Amino acid sequence: MIKVAISGVAGRMGREVLKTVLAAEDTELCAAIDVFNEGLDAGTLLGGEPLGIKIASNLAEALTASGAEVMVDFTGPRSVTANVLTALKAGVRPVVGTTGMSREDFIKVSELANNMHLGCIIAPNFAIGALLMIKFAAEAAKYFPHVEIIEKHHDQKLDAPSGTAIKTAEMILEQRGDFQQGLALEEEKIIGARGGKMPGGLRIHSVRLPGCVAHQEVIFGGVGQTLTIKHDSIARESFMPGVLTAIRAVPRLEGVVYGLENLLFE
Ligand code: NAP
Repeated sequence: MIKVAISGVAGRMGREVLKTVLAAEDTELCAAIDVFNEGLDAGTLLGGEPLGIKIASNLAEALTASGAEVMVDFTGPRSVTANVLTALKAGVRPVVGTTGMSREDFIKVSELANNMHLGCIIAPNFAIGALLMIKFAAEAAKYFPHVEIIEKHHDQKLDAPSGTAIKTAEMILEQRGDFQQGLALEEEKIIGARGGKMPGGLRIHSVRLPGCVAHQEVIFGGVGQTLTIKHDSIARESFMPGVLTAIRAVPRLEGVVYGLENLLFE
């Protein structure tokens, strides 16, 4: 049994992870952490029987006291880096779904994971369909270098663009090499109308609306044709097989793996 602590357990993703960890045969919930609902039994979050594990707000204490082996984090961009550093310092392997970490944060986490000889998985998207979308988009970019990304999420999401959109853009940029798209003299009549600009003029457009979960279209433009690669997560369950894969894999790893595709594809 892998002893799992869930950080951000009271959130939308945290509750889904809780269900998953309780249902899997080889994982055991050992700690539940959230700044919200402190003291509440984790079982009541799902409307069920008490589990005997109370929600704690102090991550370091909860990890040490529970003997956690893996910490799953679905909190927010402002707390994720501190949480991951805390887990590594406590000898606990992080599986990170929270998006919005900066490059500097990523470097700090990487250094600590290496120094501690601990595995850490940071995955901007755990849904297999989204990972395939990124893979296919990177392939298409070799033939269609003109590309823009539209991502849509629910209106409670704090960071923009999404981690998935950034990861997609990075993979496309890697494949298409030195290429500049768009007009240099373009003029926005409303600031932001053309979206966020990545290197090479690749644009990302972020939509935030109630009713959305996580959706993305990668649109390629060529002579007389367009190609659209589209993925929709219509329920948070879509992320759970990937989260379980990461929980099972992280104890065997050393250092940071950025992107679940590194564990799934050749
Ligand atoms: P959410 O509903 O706001 O849940 C976050 C939870 O974490 C909230 O209960 C929040 O409490 C709590 N929290 C905030 N700071 C904390 C801290 N320092 N320690 C412990 N708990 C803390 O958000 P969500 O929709 O579940 O999304 C969480 C993250 O996952 C976001 O970054 C989102 O982009 C990402 N995400 C990733 C994937 C993926 O596949 N990688 C998929 C979906 C979502 P308060 O409400 O009191 O702040």
